[in-house]
Amino acid sequence: MSRFINKKYSDLTAYTPGEQPLGVKYIKLNTNESPYPPSPSVLVSIGYGELSDLRLYSDPDCRGLRRALGEFYSVEADGVFVSNGSDDILNFAFMAFSEKGVVFPDITYGFYEVYAKLHGAKYEKKPLCDDFSIKTEDYLDQNGKLIVIANPNAPTGIFKELCEIEKILVANPDSVVLVDEAYIDFGGESALKLLGKYKNLLVVRTYSKSRSLAGARLGFAFADKEIISDLNKMKFSTNPYSINRMTLIAGEAALKDREYYEGNAKKIIETRAFVTEKLRAMGFEVIESRANFVLAGHGKISGSDFAEEMKKRGILIRHFSGERLEKYNRITIGTRAEMEAFLFAAEKIIG
Ligand SMILES: *Cc1c(COP(=O)(O)O)cnc(C)c1O
Repeated sequence: MSRFINKKYSDLTAYTPGEQPLGVKYIKLNTNESPYPPSPSVLVSIGYGELSDLRLYSDPDCRGLRRALGEFYSVEADGVFVSNGSDDILNFAFMAFSEKGVVFPDITYGFYEVYAKLHGAKYEKKPLCDDFSIKTEDYLDQNGKLIVIANPNAPTGIFKELCEIEKILVANPDSVVLVDEAYIDFGGESALKLLGKYKNLLVVRTYSKSRSLAGARLGFAFADKEIISDLNKMKFSTNPYSINRMTLIAGEAALKDREYYEGNAKKIIETRAFVTEKLRAMGFEVIESRANFVLAGHGKISGSDFAEEMKKRGILIRHFSGERLEKYNRITIGTRAEMEAFLFAAEKIIG
């Protein structure tokens, strides 16, 4: 840290992303990427013409992509926001809506706390229940605070039923309720269907997980058009060209291959059931997941030791610090072959 940094940032602890190894070939089950490539339409969407056009700025309003997303999800284009990854959207939401404070679970996506601190917001972390579920009662009566819920939650994978999300929306008409649906395509039910009913709902999605485009950086969100216009105010005050031309093209192309991505999600769901069953048979506690990962722990070994042993065997998984997560690791669901290699290694480590 230099002596020049603004004092308000000197105590800030940045988010620590999962390891992205260079060179050495690992089976990569640590950052919830898709094990499958982007769809055929995406792969052919960028040619020499599109590359030549890189001399031009991208469309700051992202009209083509927003229209396509609107059609795909049956919402009006002015209720769609897009930016450089959903992290970017979360950042704008914290920037815009956190004045009265923020509430989110104590065990959830680590970036929420980072953004709360970055924007100087008062925040409160509500402890998860003993079974790691989110307690609805903790989120009623929040009086205008930004409420942030990942659904399914990370790193637990637990899905909160929509009727519970609806209770939170009804109880907090003066709060923006942000539902982070990064993993919704792996088995949950989207809050999108509540959109017309609640003006305080903000649904955030990403192309990074189910659409195999983590490296393209593309996130999108749905809300009432007033909320979308607030997010645009933040974006246009930060970086209007936050999505590059290639990503805009890839994002639109991906929407043409609905069946391909639904097929991949189905494979992940099947593999998740297979991995859950095999791990449980080995004595692991595995939390029932609706995401493309499972949270699993074994009484015989600490989570960090288990992750280290896996790494020695060429497999990356993710351990998170925190007392209640001590024995657990978050394991991304890869291909069936990758997961068989993982299970083989797990058996060696435990045995
Ligand atoms: C992966 C993830 C994100 C970030 O997604 P990007 O679109 O790649 O920025 C957001 N929220 C949760 C809960 C995630 O797990």
